[in-house]
Amino acid sequence: MTEKIWFPLVFFTRWISKSWKVPHWRVFCFHDVPDRESFETFLNYFAKWYTYVPFTNGVQAIMNGRVSTTIASLRFDDGFLSQFEHALPVLHQLGYSGILGVVPKYVDAGRLIGNRVPDPAMNWTMVKIWQEHGNELANHSFSHRRLVECSAEEIENEAITAAREIHKNTGTWTLDFIYPHGRFSPFTQRILTNLGFATQSTIVRGKMNSNHPTDRIHGDQVDLTRPLLKTEIILRLGELSPRLRKAALALKRVAHKRLKDPRHDPRVT
Ligand SMILES: [Zn+2]
Repeated sequence: MTEKIWFPLVFFTRWISKSWKVPHWRVFCFHDVPDRESFETFLNYFAKWYTYVPFTNGVQAIMNGRVSTTIASLRFDDGFLSQFEHALPVLHQLGYSGILGVVPKYVDAGRLIGNRVPDPAMNWTMVKIWQEHGNELANHSFSHRRLVECSAEEIENEAITAAREIHKNTGTWTLDFIYPHGRFSPFTQRILTNLGFATQSTIVRGKMNSNHPTDRIHGDQVDLTRPLLKTEIILRLGELSPRLRKAALALKRVAHKRLKDPRHDPRVT
């Protein structure tokens, strides 16, 4: 896909979506960070709209009803080794802070075991270095199970065992929980709230305003291998009403078709 298709689409979605200049908080959620360059380029691109703040500052802003500007936080799920090797140096260099969703079973194994691709994971020394560089840690469950498929006892066990392991290895009690696979329900929310977690993070897309509930914090998943314009389009489409989203997606399909049609391909002579 060439860049040329993204330009009209990004202007169209900018036109139909709500402004990003009004105060709100957003959480960008990363998994594999393929290289330093793509991560730094991403941060610089979205710095057009956002000031990057630690996750905790964003939470405080929504809790105190004081989201007075456009702020974004950076969340890293699962503890990929690539997050340590590629994201941490960039965060350090630019003076930004990220929150890391730790899965103790992955850290112990050194791999994201059970995943389709068992990518290498950070070890506990790396998790500690992450924290010592001014970054935060979150509980991402002990073994990354889908909590919506678990009993109350199993959910408690996943959260408590992870909290204990993270404390044992880093000295920190984590009060922020990130849902494995982004799956949550009123049942899981109630259990984690009762356990005393201050926040629960999801992969529901979109902006958050003052007084957004802390037991379903949004997270916009980002794929750093995608063109940035495409990422912006995805974020903006996620914020549209269902009717407008349908219309925008129909337009995108037409644009794709036109580009695939050899009659519209300038390379075909
Ligand atoms: Zn995860």
